[in-house]
Order: sequence, then structure tokens, then C-alpha cells
Amino acid sequence: GYIQSPEVAKYKDKLLGGLLSPGFHESSCLSRYQSSLYRKASPYKPSPYLLSRLRNYEDLHRRCGPNSNPYRRALNELMFGQNITTSRETECNYVVWISYSGLGNKILTVASTFLYAILTNRVMLIDPRQDMSNLFCEPFPESSWFLPKEFPLINKFDLFGQKSSDSFGNMLKNNILNSSAESQTSYLYLHLPHDYDDYDKLFFCDQEQPLLSKVPWLILKSNQYFVPSLFLMPGFEQQLNMLFPHKTTVFHHLGRYLFHPSNQVWGLITRYYQAYLAKADEKIGIQIRVFDGSVGPSQYVTDQILSCTLNQKLLPQVDEQKFIVPPLSGNPKQKAVLLTSLSNGYYEILRNMYWQNPTVTGDLIGIYQPSHEEFQQTEKQSHNRKAWAEIYLLSLTDVLVTSAWSTFGYVAHGLGGLRPWVLYKLDENNLTVPDPPCAQLMSMEPCFHAPPYYDCKAKTGVDTGKLVPYVRHCEDISWGVKIV
Ligand code: GDP
Repeated sequence: GYIQSPEVAKYKDKLLGGLLSPGFHESSCLSRYQSSLYRKASPYKPSPYLLSRLRNYEDLHRRCGPNSNPYRRALNELMFGQNITTSRETECNYVVWISYSGLGNKILTVASTFLYAILTNRVMLIDPRQDMSNLFCEPFPESSWFLPKEFPLINKFDLFGQKSSDSFGNMLKNNILNSSAESQTSYLYLHLPHDYDDYDKLFFCDQEQPLLSKVPWLILKSNQYFVPSLFLMPGFEQQLNMLFPHKTTVFHHLGRYLFHPSNQVWGLITRYYQAYLAKADEKIGIQIRVFDGSVGPSQYVTDQILSCTLNQKLLPQVDEQKFIVPPLSGNPKQKAVLLTSLSNGYYEILRNMYWQNPTVTGDLIGIYQPSHEEFQQTEKQSHNRKAWAEIYLLSLTDVLVTSAWSTFGYVAHGLGGLRPWVLYKLDENNLTVPDPPCAQLMSMEPCFHAPPYYDCKAKTGVDTGKLVPYVRHCEDISWGVKIV
């Protein structure tokens, strides 16, 4: 069973330094209260300003949330265009997140959308069609973050795309949007996935934000962690400085605030943790994500994992000449390796290596892999629960090795507050192990894979990874940008 409440209560930092609001029933979401028993306290304290903005946000969400009177009025505006010219300032505005792409991408886009909601005083509601309640607890007290299923535009969510005539980008392109009251629209679709065009990207320009601020419903689709570009907008700079005096903690704090495993997933996490990881002296996470569609294991990837973990001394070498090596220190260290991958091939290779040979240090290496699902199955709930449990388990390790490009890995290291070693992506046209095979990331922030390259003021192209010292190109994707 799980650890009972009196013990939990003793634990000082149960609410993560005030990051979490106390207004929940503990039993409805055990992970909110028990996470601090499984992971080390974060060395990064949330700023008092972030805490106060989160509490304000919770009030706003309570007041404007699903089925509240302001919600119904905003819905009327959407359906009948009523009240559009009355004072919007006193009313509630929304940003609706559309469910799109894999779980790691989803988590990163919800976090990005939430930051935008905070910065612009909007209420964030999330797509209820895929059952996210299966995976996550409600993060906001006394309300729900789910958009009601009767929402009138819900059937359009999957149809929204680059070509939608009601997208912000296309309306700008066709000169339909301007600031006069008659042309006000009650909603706009924000197209922000990797295939967005130059007009969609104007979302990241301060000049366009006043137009957006008049629209009660913004419906957003993305598969990107777009926070770094919000940091390049002077209009948000002051707020962001106060929210995150330590800039590289954005996802770390927002992720820990928003994403609490449901009780069902928490069962997966805690049983696995207690059975395989808890007793180890050191926990090492290795996340293997191969994007070429092959089932694996491939020799290149195997060589890469070994040369990274052995060279960086994350794992000990084995001695193939000896049957037995006494531990250096008298007591052998137990190291647990949590390996996640869609294939089980790498697990077999590592496990055999450490079973069939002693380590040069005499340390004992256990290799554990919770599942091998073979391929991505985003429509399947049990698959997603395992994926979320594994992301979370990775975030509980002491040292992390992740795969380049993978948002699955980004979420794990962001939640864990870890700067992982990232295995560089193999060049599919010239298969060799990259040299060096891996590098430790500059910061624990996720990478924005498809940032705009545009200077809003000068109205020209610009390398957005070179404008300010705290937004730089990512180590794992040279054209991406991240906060460092
Ligand atoms: P990304 O594609 O690596 O950026 O990560 P996403 O999470 O967005 O999409 C990949 C999806 O594939 C995950 O959400 C899972 O459904 C599945 N997947 C990939 N790697 C693993 C793994 O190691 N374990 C499990 N259980 N699922 C995985």
C-alpha cells in the first residue's frame, strides 16, 4: 500500500514550497501529496510572485471556470455574438488547448499554454475528448480544467489547421483583423504546430497581442514548447522576470504545479519505484527514443549508449577477464538503471552485460524496464498511462541519460530538475556513433523545436537563438531554441 497520511503530514515540503494549493481532498489525488516522498526536494524555490500569480490564477479559474456565469456569457458571445462591445475587461477570456500529438508534446504545450494564460489573464481550458483525467489530476482547486464537451467548436478541433480561414495567421494575411469594434471576432484559432507559417508566427510579436487581447476565445493547437519565444517578447519581460527570477526553472515549476499523476498512474509509479528502485544507492535513468521507425535494437544505438554511459562514468565498465571482482569499498554499491524504450532490445543487452561480467568496481547494476510497447499508440489509454508512469519514474532518478529530440525525455528531466546527458541524434544517411556520443545539457529547460526566426520590430528575419544570452540554440537540435 501507499504511505499513510500521518507520515505524509510529517513531511515538511508536502506542498512543494507553496507551489501547490492546499485546497484539495488528499485521497482524490495522492500524488499531489506524496510526490515529495519519492523525489528529492527541488533546489529551486518558486518565487513569491509566482506563488501569488498561481493563487490569483486559481481564483480566476474558480470564477470563470466551466459552467460559471461568466463562462456561459462568454459562450453566448461565441454562439450569438452578443455583448461583444460591452466592457470586456470585467469579463473572462479563455485559451483553449487542443489535444494533439504524443504525451510528451502534450505536456509541454499545456505548460506553454498555461504560461500564456497567466501572462494574459486568460483561463486555460483543455480538450476533454481524449481522456486526460485518466492520466492527470485536476490541477485547479474547486473547478475543472476540462472544457465542457458541449463546447460549440469542439467538432472543429481536428479540422483546424494551417489552412483554416478562421486562424489568426490567415485572418491577418487576408486583412480581416483590425482593431475596429465591428470587425471583432469572438474566437480565433491559433495555429502553432511545427508547420505554422510566417503569419501564424506573428503571435509571438508584441504588436499583435492587443488584437488578441480583445478576443474572448483563443483556440490553440501546438506540439511545441513555445515558452522561449514568450521570453523574447518585451511585453512579457517584466512579468517573466518576476515570475521566474531563475529563468531555467519555468517548466520545472509549472510542470510540478500542473501535472499530477492520477491515482491509477500513481499506483503504477509507486509500485514500480518501491519494488525496483527504492533500495538502490544510485538511480540512473536511460531513455531510448529512436525516431527512424525501426524496432531495434540497433548496433549503433547500443554502442552510443555504452560509450556515453561508460565514458562519462555514469555506469561502470565490466571486466571480461575475471569471473569475480571484489567491491572496491568493501560494500558493493547497488545501482538501479531504469531503462525506458519502446523496444526491449537495449534492456536485454545491458542486463546480460552486467549479469555475465563483473563490474571493475564490484558495484552491482540492476537493469529495469517497466514496459516495451513496440510502437506509439496514442489512442490507447493503457499505453498512455504507462508512458506517463515511465516519464515520471525517469524524473525520480539521480542521473539521467535521454535521447535527442524527444519531448518524452524533456518532460522527465524538467520535472526532475535534472540536467541530463543527451544522446545526440544519429545521422540516418551516415550511420556512425556521434563523437562525442552525448553531452550534458546547459539547462533543464525543454527545447522549442520550431521557433520563429523573425524580428518583430525590424520586420526581418533574425536568428532568435542569438538575441539574448538566456535564449540559445539547443544542443540536440541546432535550429531549436531554449532558455539557458
Ligand atoms: P517524443 O515523440 O519522443 O517527443 O515524445 P511523445 O511523448 O510526444 O511521443 C512519443 C510517444 O511514444 C509517447 O507518448 C508514448 O506513447 C510512446 N513512447 C515513446 N517512448 C516510450 C517509452 O520509452 N515508454 C513508453 N511506455 N512509451 C513510449
